[in-house]
Amino acid sequence: MRKSSIPDPALDILAIAAHRDDVEITCGGTIIKLIDNGRKVGVLDLTQGEMGTKGTAQERERDSIDAAKIMGLSWRGNLNIPDAGVEITRENKLNVARVIRKFKPAMVILPYWVQRHPDHLSACQLGYDACFLAGLKKLEIEGEPHRPRKIIYTSSFREVRHSFFVDVSSQFERKLKSVAAYKSQFDGTPQAQEIYKPGVDIFEFMTVSARHYGYLVGVKYAEAFSVRENILIDDPFEMPVRSI
Ligand SMILES: [Zn+2]
Repeated sequence: MRKSSIPDPALDILAIAAHRDDVEITCGGTIIKLIDNGRKVGVLDLTQGEMGTKGTAQERERDSIDAAKIMGLSWRGNLNIPDAGVEITRENKLNVARVIRKFKPAMVILPYWVQRHPDHLSACQLGYDACFLAGLKKLEIEGEPHRPRKIIYTSSFREVRHSFFVDVSSQFERKLKSVAAYKSQFDGTPQAQEIYKPGVDIFEFMTVSARHYGYLVGVKYAEAFSVRENILIDDPFEMPVRSI
């Protein structure tokens, strides 16, 4: 596995995604906020992004290191799974489980469980399976058993009923910068911005979406997440977001 030269710390949170820039686009603001709040956050990209229309894998690696600095990541690694070929195999599950055992994150951030791109869908399933497997005492890989306590799924841009939103108003400018760090993808031409869908400028799309989610909860910019379990509130009196 290739990784940055930053020494390996224990992580509070590990975000797992198929392609470099997926994390920045879907939940970069929340990651920056978690780091602002003193958490150690790492990102595991599953592929090098070599199938992307623009830029080489090497350029994308350099861009991803720049983006990691902007976000303040403690670690960023890459599993070198073939791009557009993220398959849910035992080998891939164990390789992700190795990273989870090594860094022992209490929380893992995964792509939402319904996706257009097959790699994103596989990344979700691989991440979930690896979280489970990593906690098995008798698993055939090195390291102490560790199972993250919490899994949250990024659901911004998905037409679903989101479980909760994170206010990223103070982090939104840095999120946009972290995406713009992918210079090999976004060279300034209108076509280069259109990685989400033809005719959709990704920067405008991220801004409009975050503003929309912000409106739903009474803040300027927000990112959307889903969880499979219920959410427990300690003090209902303190719940934000006006009812009427
Ligand atoms: Zn992607």
